[in-house]
Amino acid sequence: MTVTRGEAACYRIKLREPWQSASHVITTFELITARLWTDTGQEGVGWTFTVGAGGTAIAAFLTDDLLPAAVGADPALVERTWQRLHGTVRDAAPGGLALLGLSAVDVALWDLKAQAAGEPLYRLLGGSRDRAEAYGSGINLNLSIPDLLAQFRRWKTRGFRAFKMKVGSDDPSTDLERVRAVREEIGPGALLMLDANQKWTAAEALRRIRGFEPYDPYWIEEPLPADDVAGHAWLRAQARCRIALGENLFAVAAFNEFLRRDAVDVVQPDVLRVGGITPFLKIAHLAESYGAPTAPHLVLELSGTLCCAIGHASMIEDLDGGTLGELGALAEPIRTEQGYFTPPPRPGHGVRFDWDALARWRARG
Ligand SMILES: [Mg+2]
Repeated sequence: MTVTRGEAACYRIKLREPWQSASHVITTFELITARLWTDTGQEGVGWTFTVGAGGTAIAAFLTDDLLPAAVGADPALVERTWQRLHGTVRDAAPGGLALLGLSAVDVALWDLKAQAAGEPLYRLLGGSRDRAEAYGSGINLNLSIPDLLAQFRRWKTRGFRAFKMKVGSDDPSTDLERVRAVREEIGPGALLMLDANQKWTAAEALRRIRGFEPYDPYWIEEPLPADDVAGHAWLRAQARCRIALGENLFAVAAFNEFLRRDAVDVVQPDVLRVGGITPFLKIAHLAESYGAPTAPHLVLELSGTLCCAIGHASMIEDLDGGTLGELGALAEPIRTEQGYFTPPPRPGHGVRFDWDALARWRARG
């Protein structure tokens, strides 16, 4: 099987309601797709995303550089192709937009490889389990407490037993009031994760975490700027709370640095940021060797498949309003049921886009 042609596009999907964290106000979800066709008539689909900026640049990078370089590749040799494509993007940018584009191509190649094998992708990648646990997650710092509690009640109705909310309000007492209200809503047994989106200094984070302790957070996510290894190591030693991070790390070596220096408990690589499935697996296996579980960032439809593949998975994130199905991008929406994701049974990753519906959002390609 040989790749004969590729095509990229960027779609700018307007959100119905803005999402707000301690460091974002998001109004547009950019979906960037990479489609590969082969001499055997197969189509592999990959994608990446941004939260509002850079999408058209990624599509141009794919069209002009990455997709032409992928033509002629044999999807069975995905590691070889990844190394070659990474060589073409490495000097343009060590992370960021270049790796987002490479992620889309890598996912399309794995899709083709699994289709050629006639297997759902999670089985080809290891097949550790048949379903993955998911948690309800909201980019919800802008919601009033009644609206926040309504969101948690919806998640409870859908069968979730674990939940994540944003923290990082300017006034610490605002955060405490919100977290207290949510803990009362979900009860003492449910898992509650708190995400600060890199808002604090180490000293401030320690003060905030002490305040959250009565509400038993399961992990604190990105308390500090994403590249502050020493700060996270210090905080982890001081605070009696798990530290989760990784959505803003790009290189396998960066994950190793956090693990080696005891600066993280739960790693959260984003498969569509780190360069695709090929490096994602290396990160997950590396983390496993340190005893750290992997809780992939976003991308429910693919993160679920990956958690069903790897040996030491935590949970996947079911972002309220942020799955591809909820965004109107899929021909066959993929939903969690009673807090679990089950991989689509068909060969490949099984994610089928609704190209006609997407056309109205098309920005480039
Ligand atoms: Mg986060």
